Amino acid sequence: MGVVRFFSLLILVLTLTACGPGPTEKKKETTQLLMGTLVTISTWGLSAAEDEKAVTAAFREMARVEALLSSHKPESAISRVNASPRGFPRKVDAEVLHVMREAMRFQELSGGAFDPGLRPLVRLWRFSETPPPVAPPSRDEVTAWLQARGGGVGVELTDGGMVLLNRGVGLDLGGIAKGYAIDRAVSVLREHGVKNAIVNAGGDMRVMGDKGGAPWRIGVQHPRNPDNAIAVVDLSGDIAMVTSGDYERYFVTKERRYHHVLNPGTGYPAESGLMSVSVQASTAMAADALSTAVFVMGPKRGLAFLKQAGAEGMLIDAQGRKVKTPGFREASE
Ligand code: AMP
Ligand code: MG
Repeated sequence: MGVVRFFSLLILVLTLTACGPGPTEKKKETTQLLMGTLVTISTWGLSAAEDEKAVTAAFREMARVEALLSSHKPESAISRVNASPRGFPRKVDAEVLHVMREAMRFQELSGGAFDPGLRPLVRLWRFSETPPPVAPPSRDEVTAWLQARGGGVGVELTDGGMVLLNRGVGLDLGGIAKGYAIDRAVSVLREHGVKNAIVNAGGDMRVMGDKGGAPWRIGVQHPRNPDNAIAVVDLSGDIAMVTSGDYERYFVTKERRYHHVLNPGTGYPAESGLMSVSVQASTAMAADALSTAVFVMGPKRGLAFLKQAGAEGMLIDAQGRKVKTPGFREASE
């Protein structure tokens, strides 16, 4: 997200908060900056004290997950694995293993389109750096990475730990960790007795219940027009929706757009003919991994893959056309 856009969003949120609901309003909204994005938790029908207690705990949980799984924070469990020598098993705690196991399951299911071991390639592209990159890495650098990485999965799980097999592999859970953090926030809200809420991390979300009988209504951002929604979605019950797009982190040079969803097979940003992929699934972790995978796979393979995974999706192609699975939920009016 550009700095200007980020601050305009922040000002908007602060303004909304300032004139937001009073103590008697049913909907309560709190926003925090976490995982490089604005995270809003909205609850419905709680007292101010109940809301504050539950929401504070949920945000604390998301911050804990970020500190554990971020590959940008040098002290995180993931960064410690990345800093260790290749070829030797390394112990990690059960929660990190759980997320890695899931990530590797999606890697296998997607035929390698989703890859949690892309840290060295992500660094080469520098998408997470400030200021953002203005030019791609050289072709030689990308080729050198492809050679160092070799084929195969690149990571092996051992009893209570994992082994990174070579220098071309490093952990980057950027395609799945936000979803996991959202799921954890929902669990904490549930432990506090919350039944109706939405955890929305920059457009990636999971809902619980509804708003006094009405669904939570959410706009999916238009990939080329940040102020417009390309679809409006009504969600209620227990469901997540996560979007991967070529507009989230990117730069344009010589009229070419380079974005942050990388094709592990080429070492370049995925050119699958899609601008965005929104996935609805029962957990935000699954929706997160699936949306990244489908973005890399493209519409044909991606739609078949979603069906196989039992999830629903809306794909926006290069012409801005929507392609949806039959069960993708949208607003009725
Ligand atoms: P998302 O926004 O969920 O699609 O995830 C994109 C982020 O995941 C990037 O910023 C990278 O950190 C990482 N990533 C990039 N390409 C892939 C890929 N093919 N598989 C898994 N993670 C990826
Ligand atoms: Mg993702």
